[in-house]
Amino acid sequence: MPLFDLPSDVLRGACLCGAVAYRAKGPLFCTSHCYCSQCQRQHGIAGSYGNVHAAGFCLELGAGLITEFAKSSAGRCGFCSVCGSMLYWRGAATPERVAVALGTLQPAWTGSVEHELFAQQKPAWLPPG
Ligand SMILES: [Zn+2]
Ligand SMILES: [Zn+2]
Repeated sequence: MPLFDLPSDVLRGACLCGAVAYRAKGPLFCTSHCYCSQCQRQHGIAGSYGNVHAAGFCLELGAGLITEFAKSSAGRCGFCSVCGSMLYWRGAATPERVAVALGTLQPAWTGSVEHELFAQQKPAWLPPG
């Protein structure tokens, strides 16, 4: 069995209502918290994402319930049209990857987050640290 088919390399995630679920080949790479104004409006605070290879990403459940929204010319995000959970982001310049929202991973993501994007736009009301 190829290494990437081992169960420990399989990531799974789902939206809040459970209507949409995805599966991806791990491990995650290039994890980040993004504090841009779009992520703040969309997520309420940071957009926290980790990348997987697009070829290993698939919607296992509820693909027809996904709505994709172009946040900007930079990319599109996919969310559950029932509960509104933001599940992934696809960058126009990086079609070979899909960034999954870390908070949707089940079981919960326990790794570290490597990058902070737009850190200068971090809201002042965030607790320090
Ligand atoms: Zn949902
Ligand atoms: Zn952002």
